[in-house]
Amino acid sequence: MAFSRRNTCFRCNLASPAGGTCGSCRAFTPLAGVAVGAHYAGSAKELVLALKFQRLRAAARAAALLVAQGLPEGLAADVVTAVPISASRYRERGYNQAELVARQLAHRLGLPYSALLGRTNSVHQLGLDRQTRLEQIKGAFYPVRRLEGRRVLVVDDVLTTGATLSECAQTLAAAGAESVWGAVVAKH
Ligand SMILES: [Zn+2]
Repeated sequence: MAFSRRNTCFRCNLASPAGGTCGSCRAFTPLAGVAVGAHYAGSAKELVLALKFQRLRAAARAAALLVAQGLPEGLAADVVTAVPISASRYRERGYNQAELVARQLAHRLGLPYSALLGRTNSVHQLGLDRQTRLEQIKGAFYPVRRLEGRRVLVVDDVLTTGATLSECAQTLAAAGAESVWGAVVAKH
């Protein structure tokens, strides 16, 4: 499979080594950076869709490998978690595809997986513009427990605007997390 990847600041898209949040954007988000497995196209897109519609361990494993390859060298993390999906989406699908990848990634990195976030609403972001997404995602998550001094790696399947991961980071930081990195299988 052929994948392409370009490391940028998730927020402003300027080139950034290893996907770290750039200096100007750090003022607007507690998210230290987002590691990207691949550009959302070709095989990476197929992999994301496979995860969304089939609960395949092989696909989750392949996605975790892709994510791991995008992680900055020497990334410091204590725990891996996943962006939660809404309760209605969970009922409909029976699983959270981000969690499948996060669990495989945790295993690969030798870190614990822990569900650290809950989701308060059932906003479906598809088709919303950037500003509406930003507004609707505010307050969408709550922390499951305090995280004093923990360095968290939060996994999602796809990155579009980064609003979701940024809001997760906000929630984790408010619960005491020392640092939060994001990681996604593919980025639009
Ligand atoms: Zn930036």
